[in-house]
Amino acid sequence: MAASVSDNVEIRQIDDTKGKGLFAVKDIKKGDVLFEERPIVSSQFLWNELYKYTACEYCLKSLETAEQQCQRLTENPVFTLPFPECCEAKVDKYVVCPQCQVVYCCEECRTAAWTEYHRTLCMGPSRQDGDHPLARLCEAWRNTHYPPETSSIMLLAKMIAMVKQSDDKLSVISMFSQFVNLPVNKEEEMAHKLLGENFQHPLELLRQMLAESLFEESVQQWYTPEGFRSLFALVGMNGQGIGSSAISVWAKNCEKLPLPEDEKQKLDSFIDQVYEDLDRVSGTFLDCEGSGLYRLQSACNHSCLPNAEITFPHNNHCLVLEATEDIKMGEEICICYLSGCDISRSRHSRQKILRENYVFHCGCPRCLAEADDEDVTSEEEEEEMDEEDDDEMKE
Ligand SMILES: [Zn+2]
Ligand SMILES: [Zn+2]
Ligand SMILES: [Zn+2]
Repeated sequence: MAASVSDNVEIRQIDDTKGKGLFAVKDIKKGDVLFEERPIVSSQFLWNELYKYTACEYCLKSLETAEQQCQRLTENPVFTLPFPECCEAKVDKYVVCPQCQVVYCCEECRTAAWTEYHRTLCMGPSRQDGDHPLARLCEAWRNTHYPPETSSIMLLAKMIAMVKQSDDKLSVISMFSQFVNLPVNKEEEMAHKLLGENFQHPLELLRQMLAESLFEESVQQWYTPEGFRSLFALVGMNGQGIGSSAISVWAKNCEKLPLPEDEKQKLDSFIDQVYEDLDRVSGTFLDCEGSGLYRLQSACNHSCLPNAEITFPHNNHCLVLEATEDIKMGEEICICYLSGCDISRSRHSRQKILRENYVFHCGCPRCLAEADDEDVTSEEEEEEMDEEDDDEMKE
């Protein structure tokens, strides 16, 4: 199981409202890796999997070659990529579960999955059988949670299976209980976010289906309506998105090729063209996607002026936190939960997104500073706010 230790950071309790935070225990330079960690549990999103974004069942590494991925995503079966040596897909290392044929990127992943949860969740020859209780659970989830996806019911199923399979159930349970718990009204907001406005019915349905397909006595509290809502909110609140793509690995390796200047430029514009083609056919859905629970990362709070960022440099679920500023010993380490374009938006817009998606009020230094000039709102901003109010009414 993933032990995440780091010489650079520690988790500290800040106060009752802010909860936990991550702090530097030494001076860190901009660009340094703060830590690298594997999730306690992770799972691919179910629509993503259904649409043949093939990933290792355990570590979410994308399993296609960069060329295969390009062919599928551009819907062009004869698409060829130059410099195939820049693709790192190790197809000869792939192995399957002998019972259900699910694919792993290597023997280590197959063994880890089997030891942690797959012995319980393996559907054997019934994997293609839509009537299998777990298949029905997945289908029920897909029918309530459409792309863009942010979570998967299989994350909960894996958590239960991990408890089931462990010789030390209490320590697995206590590991999950370290994650942030929300007050009841926030739990409902989270369920609303994941399952839509009328979340009560699908939530109850999922609870019953999970209890029928995968009951574990030592965590019976998870199966009560209140317990299930809490567990659900925990996964929604703490789940970190994961993305992997053979194409981006290929492109990154291409950049490092020692080529003469003119060939380098030619390759650069070829890569730009590849991404344009991908965008035209597949839009933003390029990666194998999933989510996971990370012990250290989940303690890292948001700031609109972050000093660190999350990357997935290994093309799998292994997360790396990198300093984007010099960080002094004792300083809190913060990441930005907002996407690249949302971060440049106004305080009002940022706080709205954070409230809706992460159910908290941002009190970061940037938000505090901008609160002072709130009354000098630009005209553009007013319009934006009006539009948002309209959107709110439509919802
Ligand atoms: Zn793997
Ligand atoms: Zn299996
Ligand atoms: Zn802020």
